[in-house]
Amino acid sequence: MTDQRPTPQSIDDFIALRRGIHAAPELGFKEFGTSDLVARLLEGWGYEVERGVGRTGVVGTLKLGAGERSIGLRADMDALPIVEATGLPYASANPGVMHACGHDGHTTILLAAARDLAERRNFSGTVRLIFQPAEEMEGGAVKMIEEGLFERFPVDAVFGMHNWPNLPAGEFRFINGPTMASVDWIVISMEGKGGHGAKPHETVDPVVAAASLVMALQSVVSRNVDPKDPAVLTVGMIHGGAAPNVIPDKVELQITVRAFRREVAALIGERVRVLAEAQAASFGAKVVIRHPTGYPALTNHDAETDFARDVAQRHFGSDRVGELAPQMVSEDFAFMLEQRPGSYLFVGNGPSADLHSPHYNFNDDVIEPAARYWVALAEDYLAANAPAGGKA
Ligand SMILES: [Zn+2]
Ligand SMILES: [Zn+2]
Repeated sequence: MTDQRPTPQSIDDFIALRRGIHAAPELGFKEFGTSDLVARLLEGWGYEVERGVGRTGVVGTLKLGAGERSIGLRADMDALPIVEATGLPYASANPGVMHACGHDGHTTILLAAARDLAERRNFSGTVRLIFQPAEEMEGGAVKMIEEGLFERFPVDAVFGMHNWPNLPAGEFRFINGPTMASVDWIVISMEGKGGHGAKPHETVDPVVAAASLVMALQSVVSRNVDPKDPAVLTVGMIHGGAAPNVIPDKVELQITVRAFRREVAALIGERVRVLAEAQAASFGAKVVIRHPTGYPALTNHDAETDFARDVAQRHFGSDRVGELAPQMVSEDFAFMLEQRPGSYLFVGNGPSADLHSPHYNFNDDVIEPAARYWVALAEDYLAANAPAGGKA
């Protein structure tokens, strides 16, 4: 990130800005260069800027006229620990770190909208632009909320947007109600008694107990969860042993659980505990279970989602607007929607590699329509025809 870069004016300037951010990706809570760039640009366009909200988060406020309503628009800034394989001329210059989820695009879209909102001055009320750190793993939204995001920077409603690969570029998709799943992690240490691989009778073999547990867990979603409730239980990691002729002392399993309802996630967590303890006992082994809190399910609010869809239809036409099925992936914007009414929407990225792939790239053609959408949403929300909003 250079200090000398001129203030972006045209869409081409914003495309260059996006590529600059792409080349200099930063991991969660380390978005120092990115958040500094964001803060300086917002200041240049006349926003009141607060840095360091949730460590590297930035909030820009633009107040115009006497309107009392306020809207929050949120973008995420963090990259992922992935080795980029796109071969692009502006590929990551920070080895092992990559913008593989398009947060470089989300940040640029909101900056382009910021510039236009400030230039058009076509609303009466308060626009708050929330540039969030650490979406991918560490819950940057929680950190911002803990540091008083919505008390210090009140909004009546808050909106977020994610690009969506293989949806036509610049088309918009909306979901009412449950939109993205909760995610929980469960870490199980299956503890036995190691020994020589030729003398299994003198050991308590945690490999066999762990293997049995993996199979037993397959019945949780199929036999315990109501078939009407979507849920996933994946054993994504299993580690144990170092040699074929040695029985290890322990095996570690790591599980992710995804669901749309808290009760379902809790039921799965409880069934995992019961099965892990019972399976271990049947082999004479023991388990140690850790169950750190993850992200809640993301549930869009109806009035705000209907409003956001209506804005897209009026400004872009019905043929560029549609619905998306709820997704089992997770997103920490869920925490913001637990605090304030709002909606999380999707913009097509065109044909592309999937999110989190080392071959993924954000589509620059999306910047213009997506920024124009943010401007339309803010201007229309701060006009008279909007829903009442919440003061929760
Ligand atoms: Zn991601
Ligand atoms: Zn993302």
